[in-house]
Amino acid sequence: MSSSRDPDCIFCKIISREVPAAIIHEDDRTIAFMDAFPSSKGHALVVPKDHHPNLLTLPTDLLQAAAALAQRIARAQKQALQPDGIIVSQFNGEAAGQTVFHYHVHVVPRWKGQDSAVHGRKQEDLQVLQEVASQIAAAL
Ligand code: 5GP
Ligand code: ZN
Repeated sequence: MSSSRDPDCIFCKIISREVPAAIIHEDDRTIAFMDAFPSSKGHALVVPKDHHPNLLTLPTDLLQAAAALAQRIARAQKQALQPDGIIVSQFNGEAAGQTVFHYHVHVVPRWKGQDSAVHGRKQEDLQVLQEVASQIAAAL
């Protein structure tokens, strides 16, 4: 289970179930859930359960665990949603576009003709996100 947490961190609150999210999968060290402001259908976040602000402060074993889960999620998205491509991206520091300071990896399906922005603008309904999460989870 998680050993370090920040009580003000939104992702720590999702991990502890204080805040709802459409969870795709979790294990003892990592969790994957749908981004609440998806930039495309299936936009997922892969998050180590321990609170570490970014790549620079993340222990290497958690980096590896998150990378392995990001690969599993990408493969499941490909099978479940049939996108043309998948973006995997990760931001470190406000100047780099990071807005939640708990390390995470975006895994974003992309279809031909879409722009490549990773941040969505509109919050999606939790129920809609849960349906997509179930589709991806079924392909894991
Ligand atoms: P960053 O810019 O830090 O890489 O991305 C943070 C991501 O977290 C954004 O894409 C944003 O939509 C997402 N996000 C912010 N708040 C919440 C939340 O409460 N729940 C979920 N599921 N995603 C969130
Ligand atoms: Zn956190």
